[in-house]
Amino acid sequence: MKKCDLLLRGMVITMNPDRDVYTDGYLAIKDGLVVGAGTNDSCEFIGEEETGGDGFIVMPGLVNAHAHLVQGCMRGMAEGTTFEERFFGFYYPMTGACDEERSYVSAMPPILDLVRRGVTTTTDDHFTHVHKRSIDGVLAAVKDAGIRCRMARLTINDKDAVPEGFREDLDVGLAETERVKAQWEDDLISVTASTIGITYCEPDQLKELWEWTDLNNRQFDIHAPAVFDQKYLAKRRGWEGGSFEWLDDAGILGPNVIAGHAQNLRPGEAELIANRGATIALVPDMEQVLGLVSFDARQFLDRGVTCGLGLDGPVVAYGHDLWTGMRSFLTGQRLGDEYRRRVSDETSKWTGEEVLYGSAEQALELATIGGAKALMMDDRIGSLESGKDADVLMIDRRGETHLSPPSAILPNLVYGNGPSPESIHRVMVRGRTLVENGEHVSIDRYEAVKNLDELQDTLFDEVNTRRFSRIRSRFNWV
Ligand SMILES: [Zn+2]
Repeated sequence: MKKCDLLLRGMVITMNPDRDVYTDGYLAIKDGLVVGAGTNDSCEFIGEEETGGDGFIVMPGLVNAHAHLVQGCMRGMAEGTTFEERFFGFYYPMTGACDEERSYVSAMPPILDLVRRGVTTTTDDHFTHVHKRSIDGVLAAVKDAGIRCRMARLTINDKDAVPEGFREDLDVGLAETERVKAQWEDDLISVTASTIGITYCEPDQLKELWEWTDLNNRQFDIHAPAVFDQKYLAKRRGWEGGSFEWLDDAGILGPNVIAGHAQNLRPGEAELIANRGATIALVPDMEQVLGLVSFDARQFLDRGVTCGLGLDGPVVAYGHDLWTGMRSFLTGQRLGDEYRRRVSDETSKWTGEEVLYGSAEQALELATIGGAKALMMDDRIGSLESGKDADVLMIDRRGETHLSPPSAILPNLVYGNGPSPESIHRVMVRGRTLVENGEHVSIDRYEAVKNLDELQDTLFDEVNTRRFSRIRSRFNWV
């Protein structure tokens, strides 16, 4: 028998290349790494600590491929607002007023949302640097919570797209990126440079930001198309093509580009993305909330483009829950397929012979190994295989009425919006336990909520944004 630090037993969903699921299996962890996985009757390990057994599920931690964690202070406030109202009315003012300490407070609840539901890796796109150390506050919260994070520091300065006070010279942006990288990078945190979208700085500056990522062997994380692209590309740059065509024309579109959203493309752009080897962070939950009936992930998946799933900022990512994102990927795609079918041939009818596109298995792939590949981290995370980091989610199914009986466990998990928080037996990053029986081991969530409630109230007064709260509510709030 071999010794390991921790031996987990239960149904082990490995996400390895063969997608082995050991219905009565084990996972062995030593020094933060997976050292063995298989069926229980073949187990050769003795654990220093052993947990689980019948009724437990062991799977890779989830990967969130798109986020803006500092937006915790305006969670859900997108409801009833126009894009311009939220972007200029309160996104910029409220996050701009967040210094290091406030950014920590603002980011912590969204981070707890993630880890308490089994997300072990998140990205973050941070673009408000009025206080240069705002990003440090987010990273301090990331570090305290113990989640793995790929932070993109976005430099923005276009005078039409970015309010005064939020613009930053490229030299300053890159110097700050270097500072943050030097200060925060470790086994679990990596830092890269980018901008929000292609109209947020001048073309030569965008190229310089991309060159920094290329030189530093990092990803270039960009929203494409971003909301302003259509409005500004033709007008200001004389560019009639799409955002991805622009990126390609600029020599940027390639394997180190990860594009957020990637919906409403021009004909041929999905093919172009596939040919260039770029990856996509799908954000299906937000697309559905915003009513994007044309949502289409399949244009990428059918072409072999690597895709992950992301949530976006909590201002519009209600619930901030990647399980909902998995479900939205499937419902969004199916509604999109139906929309396209009706537009192309409104006389066609369901025959009853159809098998719907997609599956819970596929959604779970996107949220684990898919996200790991999309973030170029699949050598370390995304599946439970010997040699990889032990980023693990362990669910105690025994009291979960919505996950019983077990034969359709994955559809029940994915369409049923995942396990309840109290059934989260453990969440681990690199073998270190972050969450045990639904609670973070070191962060007090009651304190986190209290602090964020107070912060929002302070910000409302300080930057005069209370008027956006419940802006079009019909209810009588007394
Ligand atoms: Zn975003």
